[in-house]
Amino acid sequence: MAHADLHTHTTASDGVLTPAALIREASSLGLGAIAITDHDTTAGVEEGQFEAARRGIECVPGVELGTGDQWGDVHLLGYFVRLDHRSFHDALNDLARQRFGRMRQMVDQLNDSGVPLRIEDVVRFSGTGSAGRPHVARALVDAGHASSVADAFERYVKVGRPGYVPRPKLTPERGIALIREAGGVPVMAHPHAVYDLAASLARLVPNGLAGLETDYGEYDEAKRQAMRLVAEQWDLIPTGGSDFHAVGLKEGRVLGGPRVSLTIVDRLRAAADTIRSTTTSATLV
Ligand code: AMP
Ligand code: ZN
Ligand code: FE
Ligand code: FE
Repeated sequence: MAHADLHTHTTASDGVLTPAALIREASSLGLGAIAITDHDTTAGVEEGQFEAARRGIECVPGVELGTGDQWGDVHLLGYFVRLDHRSFHDALNDLARQRFGRMRQMVDQLNDSGVPLRIEDVVRFSGTGSAGRPHVARALVDAGHASSVADAFERYVKVGRPGYVPRPKLTPERGIALIREAGGVPVMAHPHAVYDLAASLARLVPNGLAGLETDYGEYDEAKRQAMRLVAEQWDLIPTGGSDFHAVGLKEGRVLGGPRVSLTIVDRLRAAADTIRSTTTSATLV
């Protein structure tokens, strides 16, 4: 029985495989479905779906929004979002612009602290994709300022270091609303990272949160079990995914690691159908 991996990144954000290469890899691992969930962009989905169709597997359109407010950060996965929805498209474009402005600011701060780097060096790694700190880190390694991405984070781009600039964030409520307006299913990613999970769920479930990523790549079986109980208590769809970015990036984030049942994909699809039937007329791009 084939399985799904519902949390992956590609070159459309800070992953290292192109969408097509990711799908080929997934297909050779025997996966039946894969969701492409790049940071603040769906730009990799179309290419992924094209390759998936050729290989007879399913590529679920997805996105990961890194939201936050005074109560802390919440990463939201959006499944089956419509790629052609106007307000969603506009919101992602705004985020892309803000991400790029942030890259310029990071480069300026690094220069001010005596580290020569140009925005072009960062763009060589981000391409037209969703730009983030990992691209600055790769550029720093390439320029010889750091020995590895981890070293670059440690010395230059983590909180408190000279290159750090906070990322502009939507609130979780706004993120949930955007995903739902685009006909997608909002799911809380890696819930162990949330500061006060019970308080977050108490606020976000009434706002339309529909799922919880119980089977996260980095979680051991005990954590997954605990999260499945939480999902049950709140009547949330239990999802799972590796958060694969690159081979060897972080322990546990192995493509196809969490063996998520394909019935979960069907539940997400059904939830998306319900959300679409209750959302007022969509304006398309
Ligand atoms: P950003 O959203 O641009 O602030 O960057 C966050 C991204 O950086 C996430 O995808 C993390 O996986 C990655 N990241 C955070 N800390 C580290 C680290 N120490 N080493 C490598 N990647 C990291
Ligand atoms: Zn990432
Ligand atoms: Fe995340
Ligand atoms: Fe992720």
